[in-house]
Amino acid sequence: TEHEILSLQKELKAKGVKYCVGAYVDIHGVPKGKFVPIDHFLHFAHGSELYTGYALDGLGQSPNDDEIASLPDLDRGVILPWNREVAWFPADNTFHGEPYEINTRVALKKVLADATSLGFGFNLGIECEVFVVKLDDAGRIGIPNADDQLNKTCYDIRRFFRRYTWLDKVSSAIDQLGWDLYSLDHEDAPSQFEFDFKYSDALTMCDRYVFFRTMAKHYAEEEGLLATFMPKPFADKTGNGAHFNMSLYDLETGKNAFAHDKAADPLGLGLSPVAYHFIGGILRHGPAICAAMAPTVNSYKRLVRRGLMNYYSWAPVFNSFGTNNRTNSIRVPMSGGRCESRNADSSCNPYLAATLVLAAGLEGIREKLDPGRPREENLYAYTDEQLAAQGICHLPQSLQEAVAAFAGDPFTERVLGRELRDEFVRYKSEEWRAYRQQITQWEIDRYARMF
Ligand code: GLU
Ligand code: MG
Ligand code: MG
Repeated sequence: TEHEILSLQKELKAKGVKYCVGAYVDIHGVPKGKFVPIDHFLHFAHGSELYTGYALDGLGQSPNDDEIASLPDLDRGVILPWNREVAWFPADNTFHGEPYEINTRVALKKVLADATSLGFGFNLGIECEVFVVKLDDAGRIGIPNADDQLNKTCYDIRRFFRRYTWLDKVSSAIDQLGWDLYSLDHEDAPSQFEFDFKYSDALTMCDRYVFFRTMAKHYAEEEGLLATFMPKPFADKTGNGAHFNMSLYDLETGKNAFAHDKAADPLGLGLSPVAYHFIGGILRHGPAICAAMAPTVNSYKRLVRRGLMNYYSWAPVFNSFGTNNRTNSIRVPMSGGRCESRNADSSCNPYLAATLVLAAGLEGIREKLDPGRPREENLYAYTDEQLAAQGICHLPQSLQEAVAAFAGDPFTERVLGRELRDEFVRYKSEEWRAYRQQITQWEIDRYARMF
């Protein structure tokens, strides 16, 4: 109500806020918005800010179209930890006053409403992996430390301290925001770090992931560093995952609908029948969902067994599900009660990825799909023939294959609507075409003298 809006404005002003921004995302999940002086909060709250969608990636507009608006989600505002004069509100796009279909946050809300009608809420925890690197004078990113090639860097404590200032700024900010950070570490690759904070309802988690990327990059810039969420900056190092940890809860009782006594679960993973059906749905649409979870050219350089590395990547390669075994794309941690999709990487638009994975899971529940037996084996060690014999298929191996799977599965149109689905296919096909026509240094090195 108007009264509530005005009292929120008063509260923000009292806290010293001068500007508010309604941050909606483009197709990449990158936030966009105008800064509105706090005196205009009432208009802002009603969606006063207009945008020409053609100026942005993947919002489906032509230069002659009417403008889209941003409608801030007033319940989910935060004051920026690094600049307390700015209040940030996650936002949706609207068009002529209606929810705008070619917006991924709008799409997620629709599938969440579907889950509600089945009696479920969707909890999501996204693991945040990120590289923090220096740029050299030529603007190239480098592995910062001379000793980084000497031993494995996972969980390394000395190397953690090299980035302590940045890590502490980000963690303190997370604390201020009340996200309940419970662990941070030096990850597998040199200068790669991970932050884990508590799961929440999926919309909140997606808002937080978008915010987290913005914040991590901001604090890195303060230190003269680059925080990069590109999925695979170094061919011979592990990449940046953004694992989706998922469970449904019963809206009436609040209880986790995936949890089950291990003894009572015939497969012994501690999952309920609902959870297995959910996984069955994700597997059915695995390749199509992969396009949203791993949406860039670079994403597919992460989804390899080892690539140029002399040890495993920890990234998924197959459309499979299993136990704690990290060689599956869907893993059930030892605690049970949830499943983790390892396909997602840090370049994903979390709203789009969450929309598809939830819709697939709900389809699995409606149709009581069976995910098959959980894999305990090291799947990386199997040959393609062995995998085929067991009915395990590869995930897409390039953006081109992923987009083909996405475009070829009618499910994506059903869930996203034709316009958003077409926009994604159009945008990503173009991204692939631009990449395919590059002449890379690898080709020059390989062929210039050979032929
Ligand atoms: N960085 C790995 C990936 O690309 C994941 C490592 C882990 O399991 O935390 O997904
Ligand atoms: Mg990790
Ligand atoms: Mg994980």
